[in-house]
Amino acid sequence: MSECLFCKIAAGQIPAKLVHEDEHTLAFRDINPQAPQHILLIPKKHLENMLGLDDATAAHMLAAMRKIAEAENFGRGFRVVANTGELGGQTVYHLHWHLLSGRHLGWPPG
Ligand code: AMP
Ligand code: ZN
Repeated sequence: MSECLFCKIAAGQIPAKLVHEDEHTLAFRDINPQAPQHILLIPKKHLENMLGLDDATAAHMLAAMRKIAEAENFGRGFRVVANTGELGGQTVYHLHWHLLSGRHLGWPPG
């Protein structure tokens, strides 16, 4: 069995507050939110990060992102972040996109 945290969430072995699920993707609320709305969107299959992302999975994730943005009323704006690798600040090595909204998000990031 995979030791990957997000594979376990995808398999239902660790609970999460789900906001979206389809055949290829899953989205759930971040346990340590950095904005009023902070959702993590993942592919169900294990990919380490953006460097392993194939075109088909990217398309599934984009479609899910649009559905979530609509369902969560992200109309005033939101941000997508994919921390990648050590310098990118990635801590969980299962590809995930942070979807952040609900407040003005600063720029540049820290
Ligand atoms: P990153 O630093 O980009 O790899 O992001 C990992 C994210 O996963 C962080 O924002 C954590 O708060 C979040 N996280 C870690 N464990 C869980 C969990 N069990 N459920 C939901 N989010 C989690
Ligand atoms: Zn995984």
